[in-house]
Amino acid sequence: MSDCLFCKIRDGQIPAAVTYRDHEVIAFNDITPKAPFHQLVVPTQHIASLAEAKLDHAALLGKLMVVASELASAAGYRERGFRVVMNAGPDAGQSVGHVHLHVLAGRELGWPPG
Ligand code: 5GP
Ligand code: ZN
Repeated sequence: MSDCLFCKIRDGQIPAAVTYRDHEVIAFNDITPKAPFHQLVVPTQHIASLAEAKLDHAALLGKLMVVASELASAAGYRERGFRVVMNAGPDAGQSVGHVHLHVLAGRELGWPPG
Protein backbone atom coordinates (compact mmCIF):
# COMPACT_ATOMS: atom_id res chain seq x y z
CA MET A 1 0.00 0.00 0.00
CA SER A 2 1.77 3.09 -1.24
CA ASP A 3 0.10 5.54 1.14
CA CYS A 4 0.17 3.37 4.25
CA LEU A 5 2.18 4.79 7.16
CA PHE A 6 3.33 1.43 8.48
CA CYS A 7 4.22 0.15 5.01
CA LYS A 8 6.39 3.27 4.67
CA ILE A 9 8.05 2.56 8.02
CA ARG A 10 8.60 -1.06 6.90
CA ASP A 11 10.23 0.21 3.71
CA GLY A 12 12.38 2.79 5.49
CA GLN A 13 10.61 5.73 3.85
CA ILE A 14 9.60 7.08 7.26
CA PRO A 15 12.02 6.70 10.17
CA ALA A 16 11.14 4.75 13.30
CA ALA A 17 13.01 3.32 16.27
CA VAL A 18 12.94 -0.30 15.12
CA THR A 19 13.32 -2.88 17.89
CA TYR A 20 12.74 -6.10 15.95
CA ARG A 21 12.64 -7.13 12.32
CA ASP A 22 12.39 -10.34 10.34
CA HIS A 23 10.76 -11.17 7.02
CA GLU A 24 7.27 -11.31 8.54
CA VAL A 25 7.25 -8.89 11.45
CA ILE A 26 8.62 -5.47 12.34
CA ALA A 27 8.39 -3.73 15.74
CA PHE A 28 9.14 -0.16 16.66
CA ASN A 29 8.51 2.37 19.40
CA ASP A 30 5.18 4.16 19.28
CA ILE A 31 5.76 7.83 18.44
CA THR A 32 3.30 8.91 21.15
CA PRO A 33 3.82 6.41 23.96
CA LYS A 34 0.85 5.77 26.26
CA ALA A 35 3.03 4.00 28.84
CA PRO A 36 6.76 3.97 29.70
CA PHE A 37 7.07 0.98 27.33
CA HIS A 38 4.95 1.20 24.20
CA GLN A 39 5.91 -0.64 21.06
CA LEU A 40 3.94 -1.58 17.96
CA VAL A 41 4.32 -5.05 16.47
CA VAL A 42 3.34 -5.07 12.81
CA PRO A 43 3.18 -7.70 10.06
CA THR A 44 5.31 -6.75 7.07
CA GLN A 45 2.35 -7.85 4.93
CA HIS A 46 -0.28 -5.12 4.57
CA ILE A 47 -3.50 -6.23 6.25
CA ALA A 48 -5.78 -3.24 6.78
CA SER A 49 -7.48 -4.42 9.97
CA LEU A 50 -8.03 -7.48 12.09
CA ALA A 51 -11.52 -7.36 10.59
CA GLU A 52 -9.91 -8.16 7.21
CA ALA A 53 -7.85 -11.08 8.50
CA LYS A 54 -8.49 -14.59 7.24
CA LEU A 55 -7.63 -17.97 8.72
CA ASP A 56 -4.62 -17.98 6.38
CA HIS A 57 -3.24 -15.17 8.56
CA ALA A 58 -3.61 -17.08 11.82
CA ALA A 59 0.04 -18.10 12.18
CA LEU A 60 1.23 -14.60 11.35
CA LEU A 61 -1.16 -13.01 13.84
CA GLY A 62 -0.06 -15.49 16.49
CA LYS A 63 3.55 -14.61 15.79
CA LEU A 64 2.78 -10.96 16.56
CA MET A 65 1.75 -12.07 20.06
CA VAL A 66 4.91 -14.08 20.62
CA VAL A 67 7.15 -11.25 19.38
CA ALA A 68 5.25 -8.85 21.64
CA SER A 69 5.84 -11.09 24.65
CA GLU A 70 9.53 -11.48 23.82
CA LEU A 71 10.00 -7.72 23.47
CA ALA A 72 8.24 -7.01 26.77
CA SER A 73 10.23 -9.74 28.51
CA ALA A 74 13.52 -8.50 27.05
CA ALA A 75 12.70 -5.04 28.42
CA GLY A 76 12.20 -6.49 31.91
CA TYR A 77 8.40 -6.69 32.09
CA ARG A 78 8.01 -10.46 32.09
CA GLU A 79 7.18 -10.68 35.80
CA ARG A 80 5.56 -7.31 36.35
CA GLY A 81 3.32 -7.68 33.36
CA PHE A 82 2.42 -6.07 30.11
CA ARG A 83 -0.62 -5.66 27.90
CA VAL A 84 -1.18 -6.33 24.22
CA VAL A 85 -4.00 -4.50 22.44
CA MET A 86 -5.19 -4.54 18.86
CA ASN A 87 -7.72 -1.90 17.90
CA ALA A 88 -9.97 -2.76 14.95
CA GLY A 89 -12.24 -0.16 13.41
CA PRO A 90 -13.46 3.27 14.43
CA ASP A 91 -15.19 2.47 17.72
CA ALA A 92 -11.99 0.80 18.93
CA GLY A 93 -9.95 3.84 17.92
CA GLN A 94 -7.92 2.29 15.11
CA SER A 95 -6.17 5.23 13.46
CA VAL A 96 -3.65 3.47 11.19
CA GLY A 97 -5.08 1.07 8.59
CA HIS A 98 -2.41 -1.61 8.84
CA VAL A 99 -2.75 -4.31 11.50
CA HIS A 100 -0.62 -3.61 14.56
CA LEU A 101 -0.39 -4.90 18.09
CA HIS A 102 0.27 -2.40 20.86
CA VAL A 103 2.55 -3.65 23.64
CA LEU A 104 2.25 -1.54 26.78
CA ALA A 105 4.09 -1.83 30.09
CA GLY A 106 5.78 0.10 32.85
CA ARG A 107 2.77 1.37 34.75
CA GLU A 108 -0.46 -0.02 36.14
CA LEU A 109 -2.86 -0.22 33.23
CA GLY A 110 -6.49 0.51 33.97
CA TRP A 111 -9.26 -1.94 33.23
CA PRO A 112 -11.67 -1.75 31.53
CA PRO A 113 -10.05 0.40 28.86
CA GLY A 114 -11.74 3.70 28.06
P1 5GP B 1 -4.16 2.78 16.58
O1 5GP B 1 -4.76 4.09 17.06
O2 5GP B 1 -4.40 2.60 15.11
O3 5GP B 1 -4.55 1.60 17.39
O4 5GP B 1 -2.61 2.94 16.81
C1 5GP B 1 -1.79 3.68 15.95
C2 5GP B 1 -0.55 4.05 16.73
O5 5GP B 1 0.41 4.50 15.81
C3 5GP B 1 -0.79 5.18 17.75
O6 5GP B 1 -0.48 4.70 19.06
C4 5GP B 1 0.16 6.28 17.28
O7 5GP B 1 0.79 6.95 18.34
C5 5GP B 1 1.16 5.51 16.42
N1 5GP B 1 1.75 6.31 15.36
C6 5GP B 1 1.10 7.18 14.55
N2 5GP B 1 1.96 7.73 13.67
C7 5GP B 1 3.18 7.18 13.95
C8 5GP B 1 4.48 7.35 13.36
O8 5GP B 1 4.69 8.11 12.41
N3 5GP B 1 5.50 6.64 13.90
C9 5GP B 1 5.30 5.78 14.95
N4 5GP B 1 6.38 5.12 15.41
N5 5GP B 1 4.09 5.58 15.51
C10 5GP B 1 3.05 6.28 15.01
ZN1 ZN C 1 0.46 -1.04 5.21
